[in-house]
Amino acid sequence: MEIQNILLEQKEFFKTQQTKSLAFRKMYLEKLRSLIISNENMLYEAIYKDFGKSKFDTFTTEISFILNDIEYYLKHLKSLAKPQKVSTNLVNQLGKSKIYSEPLGNILVIGAWNYPYQLSLSPVIAAIAAGNCCILKPSEVAENTMKAMSRIINENFPSAYVYVYEGGIDETTALLKLKFDKIFFTGSTKVGKIIYKAAAEHLTPVVLELGGKSPVIVTKNANLEIAAKRIVWGKFLNAGQTCVAPDYLLIEETIQEQFLEMLRKYIKEFQYSPDSEQYTKIINPRNFQRLVHLIDKEKIYFGGSSDEEKRYIEPTILHNSDWNDPIMQEEIFGPILPVISFKNYNMALNAVLEQEKPLAAYLFTNNTEEKDNFTQRLSFGGGCINDVVMHLSNDNLPFGGVGNSGIGNYHGKFGFEAFSHQKAVLEKATWGEPNIKYPPYSEKKLSWIKKFL
Ligand code: NAD
Repeated sequence: MEIQNILLEQKEFFKTQQTKSLAFRKMYLEKLRSLIISNENMLYEAIYKDFGKSKFDTFTTEISFILNDIEYYLKHLKSLAKPQKVSTNLVNQLGKSKIYSEPLGNILVIGAWNYPYQLSLSPVIAAIAAGNCCILKPSEVAENTMKAMSRIINENFPSAYVYVYEGGIDETTALLKLKFDKIFFTGSTKVGKIIYKAAAEHLTPVVLELGGKSPVIVTKNANLEIAAKRIVWGKFLNAGQTCVAPDYLLIEETIQEQFLEMLRKYIKEFQYSPDSEQYTKIINPRNFQRLVHLIDKEKIYFGGSSDEEKRYIEPTILHNSDWNDPIMQEEIFGPILPVISFKNYNMALNAVLEQEKPLAAYLFTNNTEEKDNFTQRLSFGGGCINDVVMHLSNDNLPFGGVGNSGIGNYHGKFGFEAFSHQKAVLEKATWGEPNIKYPPYSEKKLSWIKKFL
């Protein structure tokens, strides 16, 4: 069936009001949970075919996230959907005020390839929880995972409710001509702008989950062992193809040598070899070539080797990097960590402030003043002090960017809100009506009103 007809069907289905019932939403969340569990192996195989992502990483960074999201909404749906009573101001007495979270209607989710299950299904789960119909367009770049999701959903969900539309740029361009009630996009800033423009034609609100260059700063006041271990894990997870991975490292000059040694030690300890089933491969030859060209051979401190056939790039550290280096001009999105040293912490913060606002920022220190300066002076989507990446696993925290790294956020109650309209309703009593606001006006009425307001 043509995609515009699927959307028409979904619009008709939404009008039946069925998706608003909490029992209906729960039934499909539970259904999705059991489908994911019963198809777990198929999901692992598909992602392994796409870019050699291990079962361990797929479970910890994708499947467990999705199952956790479903649990969260099953547990909290009643309280999230409940009309919220708020106080009523003096001029509206005798009245009651409530905020109703109503589903927006017909949602389009456009996914990215790097965490294909999590980034496609988490927003779909939030959209279902909030009572919407949804079309998901996963990234065609991870073709096998796209097909796996399409099989699971399209064979088990009514297409008039949730539907996976397979396709690339042409299909997405066609989708963007249609009128949705919200578009949730995850991907690059460049394509984010295309989505935003197309959405504006229909005055469709958007969530844009974009990327950017996320810094990690390490000062001499950090626990260096912990910092090195956590940075190596977070940078080389998914072979660096993580939107919130530390993109580059800013290190205090006096500890640079010692710290680089520690990074080397952990890279070796974690055994990221070309034949390791644990270490993810680069998604496609185009990205492989782009990344290989970003490795400045003169600046290699560790690593630098690659194998085109296996789409393997060794975890690589570049030292003596410079803000003008080509690698500092674009989001790396791969297993290369340029290192820039700083003499003075304030200068490091100033340098970050000169860049576009990143999706994430990380600081390793045990110094309170440095922590305060980091949280108060820098603007970034979200981040951690003394860790990397992990902030997005706490569903009490909103996840999203700011400025060039995105618009809006989701996860937990923020995901529910992203797909809901907060409808304000004031209910008035039909007795006790003072005449003060009605014409004919008088000076006396005005002086009373001035006292009230
Ligand atoms: P991308 O922007 O190339 O593609 C994302 C989606 O847009 C895909 O579904 C693709 O089919 C579609 N698309 C691509 N070109 C299009 C066009 N011209 N017109 C319409 N649709 C188009 O991004 P990607 O390569 O899949 O992902 C990498 C980027 O995404 C990185 O910048 C990364 O930081 C960012 N990202 C952000 C998050 C986040 O949560 N904020 C998560 C993952 C990735």
